[in-house]
Amino acid sequence: MSVLAVLEQRAGEWHRMSFETLAAAQQIARELDTTVSAAVLGHNIGALANELAAKRIETVYAFEHDLLKEYTPDAYTLALAQHIDHFKPSIVLFPHTYQVRDFLPKLATRLDRVAVTDVVSHRVENGELTLVRQLFQGKVNADVRFSGDGPHFASLQAGAYRADRVLDGHATVEVVTPSLSPSDIRTRPLALVRESQHTVDLGAAELIVSFGRGIKDAENIPLIEKLAAALGAELAASRPICDAGWLPMERQVGSSGQTVAPKMYMAIGISGAIQHLVGMKGARTVVAINKDADAPIFEVADYGIVGDLFQVVPALIEAIKKA
Ligand SMILES: Cc1cc2nc3c(=O)[nH]c(=O)nc-3n(C[C@H](O)[C@H](O)[C@H](O)COP(=O)(O)OP(=O)(O)OC[C@H]3O[C@@H](n4cnc5c(N)ncnc54)[C@H](O)[C@@H]3O)c2cc1C
Repeated sequence: MSVLAVLEQRAGEWHRMSFETLAAAQQIARELDTTVSAAVLGHNIGALANELAAKRIETVYAFEHDLLKEYTPDAYTLALAQHIDHFKPSIVLFPHTYQVRDFLPKLATRLDRVAVTDVVSHRVENGELTLVRQLFQGKVNADVRFSGDGPHFASLQAGAYRADRVLDGHATVEVVTPSLSPSDIRTRPLALVRESQHTVDLGAAELIVSFGRGIKDAENIPLIEKLAAALGAELAASRPICDAGWLPMERQVGSSGQTVAPKMYMAIGISGAIQHLVGMKGARTVVAINKDADAPIFEVADYGIVGDLFQVVPALIEAIKKA
């Protein structure tokens, strides 16, 4: 019985969620009083495996194959399915990335298992692991326990665990050569679409004024801009605003946008869906303005104003200017 963290890399660069998953795996293994190992798949990944060898884990499994150079669901599924039994993990953790969403259900199904996806936290009681995932846009928390023999699969939501909690140590590296042939792979990877260039570094911003659908219309954005200017803050938004093209994608905060950790994050007309919260819950102080007193954003807010933003924001701008 042990915990295995399957980490993600692309072209020799770690996915930022990989070390969150490793931190979670170390913590869960510690609480279950068991060992933790890590796996990484790719081609020429010796340097990445060596980096992992300096972490507090037992074994690093480096899956090397030229057919793993580019991600394909067939090759990843086949490679892991061939070898996972050999590692005998009881729990296999993945970051909940787009790639993992693509192949994890296939891997779990192939091994006749279920996958618990998008886990936000866990607890261990009497040696038993309970995973927590959210339903109905974060309004309900569901406890999930595994039954029967492992391996049990779970993916972890972005930001649910802290990458800076990974413990250093020493691990042995075992190179794994899966048996793959070109005929196993039914998809042909094309050139990668580049993620938007981050011309604004919201991650480094100290003050952020962020707005959501409560703004109603793009015509009303200058009101929020005035507040941001008065505070000297960066402007950000929830996903529907960026999807609508009202602000550039690089200003989107959340699981599919940027992760920010400012001194103050002001959320205006944002409901506080879990995908938004994961991007901003590292803020030191959260201020929320929302006309719905039951909006989930108030659960993470240090200061909350229940009111109409079209009345509250102009009053705030006045007060800030006076101050
Ligand atoms: C795979 C996936 C990834 C996602 N990634 C992200 C992400 O990265 N970032 C993100 O933000 N979302 C993301 N989402 C979407 C997320 O689930 C929510 O739909 C989104 O965050 C809601 O945006 P919102 O709060 O602006 O809108 P709404 O949920 O519609 O909330 C609007 C809020 O404004 C309030 N309001 C309305 N009028 C006023 C007023 N006059 N004054 C004050 N308050 C008012 C309402 O009470 C409400 O709470 C993702 C979803 C999925 C499925």
